[in-house]
Amino acid sequence: MLQLDLDKAVQAVLKKGAKIVAVQIPEGLKERALEIAKGIEEKTGAVVFTFVDPCYGSCSLSDHEAKRVGASLLLHFGHSPFLSKTEVETVYLPLGYKLVKGGLAMLAEGIAKKVGKGKKIALCSTVQYLGHLKSFGELLEKRGLKVFVGRGKGVSKGQVLGCNYSSVKSIEGKVEAVVFLGDGLFHVLGISFSSSKPVFTANPLSLEVGELKNERDLFLRKRYAVIARAMDAKSFGILLSSKKGQLREKLALKLKREIEGKGRKAFIFVSDFVKPEYLTGVKVDALVSTACPRIAFDDSSSFKQPLLSPSELSMVFGEKRLENYKIDEFL
Ligand code: SF4
Repeated sequence: MLQLDLDKAVQAVLKKGAKIVAVQIPEGLKERALEIAKGIEEKTGAVVFTFVDPCYGSCSLSDHEAKRVGASLLLHFGHSPFLSKTEVETVYLPLGYKLVKGGLAMLAEGIAKKVGKGKKIALCSTVQYLGHLKSFGELLEKRGLKVFVGRGKGVSKGQVLGCNYSSVKSIEGKVEAVVFLGDGLFHVLGISFSSSKPVFTANPLSLEVGELKNERDLFLRKRYAVIARAMDAKSFGILLSSKKGQLREKLALKLKREIEGKGRKAFIFVSDFVKPEYLTGVKVDALVSTACPRIAFDDSSSFKQPLLSPSELSMVFGEKRLENYKIDEFL
C-alpha cells in the first residue's frame, strides 16, 4: 500500500498561507481523494480543488489549470519533480510503498544467488521504491555484491522513469549487471534497451527475483510486427501531447519533414491525452507518438493503425536491425 504522509502537505499549505489549494493525485490514490481533501481542509482552513484528470507522472503537471482555478499552491502527489518552471508554486509529494518486514533481505538473498558473488551491479528503481534503495544496496553489499547507484539527468539518484534511464547509463561502464528494485515490466524492458548488461529484477510486492530474458524477445517480436505493418503506409499521423512535460513540438516537426522527405504524407494531431477514440474518423495509415513512450508500448493494440515510437519510425524508413532497437527518452 502507498504510504500517505499528509503532514508535509499541511505544512506546505500553512507556510504558503494558501486559501485555495490544487491537489493532483495519481490513479492509484483516487480512492483516498476524500481523505486527502478533508485532511488538508480541516487542518489548514484552505479549500481543496482535487484534479481528477488521469495523472501518470509529473510530466502531466496541472500548474496552468491550478492557476486558472485561482489556486496559489499545487500539491502534486505521487511523483518527483520533472519541470524546472511552473506557473504556480508546486510542492511534489512522492509516495513510497510500505514493504513487508524482512522482504528486502529476502530479495537481496535471491539477487545475490542469481547475479553471483563479487559482481558489480547498477542498482536502480522507480520513485515508489527509491526510499528503500540505500538499505537494499547495503543488504546486497553484505552478500558480496559491489553496488553502484548512478546519477542521471533530471531524476533523483538511482531513479529511472519510463522516458529516462540516464541514471543507469551513467554507470554502464563500471558494472556487469543491472538490478531493478520495483514492479511491472515496462521499466525493466526500458533498462534492457538502454544497457547492454543483463537485467535482474527484485519485486518488493511479490517478493520475487528474476532475470529479464524471454520477455524482451517477445516484446521485440510484437514491436517488429507493428513496424512491418507501417512499412507501406502512405500517410502518417504524428501525435503530439500538449502536456507540458510531454510536449515535443520540434520533434513532431522533424518527423513530419522526414516522412514527407520519403514521399509520404504527414499530419500533426494535438491532444492533451493520446487516446484512440480522439482519432475516430481520421484516415491515416499509421501513427507516430511523440508523447509518453508508454503509449506506443502499452496501448498500441487499442489503436486501429500501427502506432510507432519515433525511433521505430526510423526503422520503417531505414535501420531494420532489431539489435539496435531503442526506447525514446526525454532528456
Ligand atoms: S514515462 Fe511517461 S508518464 Fe512517466 S514521466 Fe515519462 S512521459 Fe511521464
